[in-house]
Amino acid sequence: MQPANHPMAQSRRRQQQTRRIRRRRWLFASLLVVCVLAVWFLWRIFTPVPHQPVKDRPVAVIDAGHGTLVNSGILDVGTANFGATEAALVLDIALRLQQALEQRGWVAVTTRDGDFTPYSLGQRTQLAAKVNADVFVSLHLNSHPSQRARGVEVFYWRPDARPLAELLQQRLSERLQLRNRGIQTFPFTVIATAPVPAVLIELGFLSNWWEAQRLKNPQFREKAAQVIAEALTEWWQKQQRERLVTLSSSVPFRH
Ligand SMILES: [Zn+2]
Repeated sequence: MQPANHPMAQSRRRQQQTRRIRRRRWLFASLLVVCVLAVWFLWRIFTPVPHQPVKDRPVAVIDAGHGTLVNSGILDVGTANFGATEAALVLDIALRLQQALEQRGWVAVTTRDGDFTPYSLGQRTQLAAKVNADVFVSLHLNSHPSQRARGVEVFYWRPDARPLAELLQQRLSERLQLRNRGIQTFPFTVIATAPVPAVLIELGFLSNWWEAQRLKNPQFREKAAQVIAEALTEWWQKQQRERLVTLSSSVPFRH
């Protein structure tokens, strides 16, 4: 039996102490790792994975051009020719388009359903944000001092609206046999301030006698609405497919 203060006994005590400290440190480190893992695990379970939901009902805002009171208190009817006004004809097309879109599963909201709208141009685009729209379509008819000017042109401003403008331009000129004047860019208020892809369609010239006669024909207006609804649906479906591809390719650990 060695005395407690013997150098051998002291060295053994020191070794035992060092082992105890090491064991405690190891235990502490293990506990820390377990806690961190538990927190991470709980965070993964309870934090919703951010993702863009795939909408099953797209929303469109259809803007029948004009129909606002101008400063002098007169209703703005746009261009007028051959006994017809732009405001009345585009309203009819807008209401037909609303129906055609609803039949294809869209939710379609119009900026006016009568001769007059209280919405200013800026408020028309704000409506798109309010209803969480996916697209904004403004309908107009063209006019030119030369009665020979004719054809369809689709305007866009936001770059993300270009594919839709191209599709509409192509379909409208082909299916309605209108001269293809090509897509155009111009910062009209309704397409430049829209919070979503927006196009402005100039569906023929009311200053051209032949086109005015066609525009005054309800069958032509119905066909125009159907062509626009079809093109919008095709554009939307393509967008959805592209979104799905983006979503699936961004899922981690995918092989
Ligand atoms: Zn107009």
